[in-house]
Amino acid sequence: MDTIKYQFKICTGCSFFCTKEEAVEFCPYCGEKLINKCPTCKANIKTPHGNYCTQCGNLYPGRATKNKK
Ligand SMILES: [Zn+2]
Ligand SMILES: [Zn+2]
Repeated sequence: MDTIKYQFKICTGCSFFCTKEEAVEFCPYCGEKLINKCPTCKANIKTPHGNYCTQCGNLYPGRATKNKK
């Protein structure tokens, strides 16, 4: 079987996400623009539940962690 690699768009204001194929540009919950790649390294977003880019380790905008150190 082929491995399908989904790409996602995530909200920069809340935890909403959708697949890149969906015609959704803004979050239906908070109205923030969705991003489909890391603003730092331009890597595609493959883990929509994650807070950090899997390529460069930078925090996605709006994905502030609750447990600050
Ligand atoms: Zn949102
Ligand atoms: Zn990155």
